[in-house]
Amino acid sequence: MEFALFCARVNVLLLLLALCSPCKFIQSPMDFGPLSFLQNTSTASVDFGRILFNSPSAVLRPQSSEDISLLLGFLSSSSFSRVTVAARGAGHSIHGQAQALDGIVVEMDALPSNIEIYKKGEGVVGVSYADVSGGALWIELLHESLKRGLAPRSWTDYLYLSVGGTLSVGGVSGQTFKYGPQVSNVLQLDVVTGKGKLVTCTPTKSPELFFAVLGGLGQFGIITRARILLQDAPEKVKWVRAFYDDFDAFTRDQELLISMPELVDYVEGFVVLNEQFLHSSSTAFPTHLHFTPEFHSNGSSRAFYCIEFAVHDDGSKNASTEELQTIVNKAGHQVVEEIARRLSHLPSHLYRAEVSYYDFLNRVRMEEMSLRGVGLWEVPHPWLNMFVPKSGLKAFRDLLLESISPDEFAGPVLLYPLLRDKWDTNTSAVLPEAAEGAAEDERVLYIVGVLRSANPASCTAECLRDLLRRNRGIAEAASAPGIGAKQYIPHHPSPSHWREHFGRRWERLAARKARFDPLGILAPGHGIFPRIS
Ligand code: FAD
Repeated sequence: MEFALFCARVNVLLLLLALCSPCKFIQSPMDFGPLSFLQNTSTASVDFGRILFNSPSAVLRPQSSEDISLLLGFLSSSSFSRVTVAARGAGHSIHGQAQALDGIVVEMDALPSNIEIYKKGEGVVGVSYADVSGGALWIELLHESLKRGLAPRSWTDYLYLSVGGTLSVGGVSGQTFKYGPQVSNVLQLDVVTGKGKLVTCTPTKSPELFFAVLGGLGQFGIITRARILLQDAPEKVKWVRAFYDDFDAFTRDQELLISMPELVDYVEGFVVLNEQFLHSSSTAFPTHLHFTPEFHSNGSSRAFYCIEFAVHDDGSKNASTEELQTIVNKAGHQVVEEIARRLSHLPSHLYRAEVSYYDFLNRVRMEEMSLRGVGLWEVPHPWLNMFVPKSGLKAFRDLLLESISPDEFAGPVLLYPLLRDKWDTNTSAVLPEAAEGAAEDERVLYIVGVLRSANPASCTAECLRDLLRRNRGIAEAASAPGIGAKQYIPHHPSPSHWREHFGRRWERLAARKARFDPLGILAPGHGIFPRIS
C-alpha cells in the first residue's frame, strides 16, 4: 500500500514535469499508480456558456475521494509547481468557472454516484436524508429518492446540474422562499481541501470548512459527498400561470404568494418580452395559453409579466391560522381556486394544469430537448443573474428594459422573490446588504435571471462581445448604491471587482482561502485569487 502511494506520488511528479514543460509531451491516457489522467481535454475546455474555452493540460477522472486527496496533497506540498485544479461537475457554468487553463480538471462525474436514501421512521431517527456523491446530478438523486417516496426540498429549475456544482453557488428556484436555497438544506459534506485533506464536516464539526464551501465557488475544497435533507414527495402538483400587464400588481401578488407558505409550494415569475418567450417557455406547460398580448403600443415596446406558482397535492400540510387550515384541508384544485381569488392578474388569464411531481421538477428538460432539436441548445449563453433588493427592483427593471431590445431577445427573463432569512450568513454566498434599519419588507429580495441565448447564425463574435459588454454595464450600474444589487454566480474582470463583490465579507473569504487553499490551487476559472508557487 505504502509502495503504491509512493509510486503514485512519483508519477504525479512526472505528470507535473510534463505539465510544466512547454511542449506538453502528454500523448495518450496516462496511468500513474492509482491516478489516471486523460489527454483528451476537449470536454473540460467547454461549458454551457460557450464563451471561454480554456484547455487544461490534463484531466483526472477520480474513482474515489482519495484520488483527489492524493492529487491536491501532492500539489500543495511541492513548491515548484504552478499547476491549478478545477472540479468540473456538469460544466454548466457560463464564464469558464470550471475550467483550468494549463492545469488539471477533475471530472466529478467519474466518481460513483452511490446514492443512499435514509427514510425517517425506517430505522432512521430525526429526518430523512440522502448521501450522494458531489459529482451526481440532481436528476439522479430525484430518481432514487422518489423510489422511497421522498425528494429534496430545495431545487434548481434544471436538474442536469451536479450536487457539488450547485452547492458551490447556492442553488435557487421557486421553492427557495419556503426552504431556503440548496445550501440551506445540507446536513453534512465530505470535502477534500486545497491541501489535500479529506474532511467530513457539518454545522458543528469543522463548521468553518462546512460553511466556507457552501456557496464558496469551489475556492476552498472539492465536495466529494453531500448529505441532503429530504421530505415526503407529493405525487402530483397543481401548476398555475397567471399573466399581468402591471409590474406592481405582478410583484405584489408574488409577495402575497410567498407570504402563504402553508398553501403555496413554489413561486417564480417571468418578464414576458415577446411572442417567442410565450412559445418556448410553454413547451412543458400542458395547457394551451390564449394569451396574445400587443407587445407594441404607440411605437414603443410593452412588457408583460407572468407568475408561475405550484401547490403540492399531498394533503399533509399544517397552517398557522384557522382560516388557512380550512383552505389547506380542501382538495388541491380548491386550494388553487382559493389562492387565485386573492390575485390581481389580467382577468381570464390564469391557466391551470396538473402534472406529476417528477414532470414538474424536470420541466426545463423538455425545453432543452426542444432547443436541441433545432440546434439552439449548444450556442453561446451570455447570462446575467442578479440578486436585487426590493427597494431597487423597479429601477433595475427599467435599467434592464433600456439595455435590451425586447424583439431580439431570445430566452427567459426570470424575476421572483426570495427571503433573506432563509440564507445562512455563515456560508460564502453573497446577498445584497440590507439597508441600515431596513423595513420589515426588506426581508424580501429578488433574483433576476437574464438568460439570453445568442444564436451564432445571427449573432457573430462581435455581437457576442457587445452582449457581454452590455451585461457588464447592467451589472455595474445595478451594483451602485441606487439599486444595490449583487451578481449571483458572479463573474468579475479583476481581483479588485471581487473585493467589491464580497464587500465586508472579503476579509472572511480571504482568511478561509488562506486556511484551506493557501497556494490558490483551486477553481482558477473565477480569477479571485492568484496561484502562489
Ligand atoms: P460546474 O459548471 O461544473 O462548476 C461550477 C463551479 O463549481 C466551478 O467553480 C467548479 O470548480 C465548482 N465545482 C463543481 N463541482 C464541485 C464540487 N464537487 N466541489 C467543489 N466545487 C465544485 N442555478 C440556480 O441556482 N438555479 C437554477 O434554476 C439554475 N438553472 C440553471 C439552468 C441551466 C440550463 C444552467 C446551464 C444553469 C443553471 N443554474 C441554475 C446555474 C447552475 O446552478 C450553476 O452554474 C452551477 O454551478 C452548475 O453546476 P455544474 O455541476 O454544471 O457546475
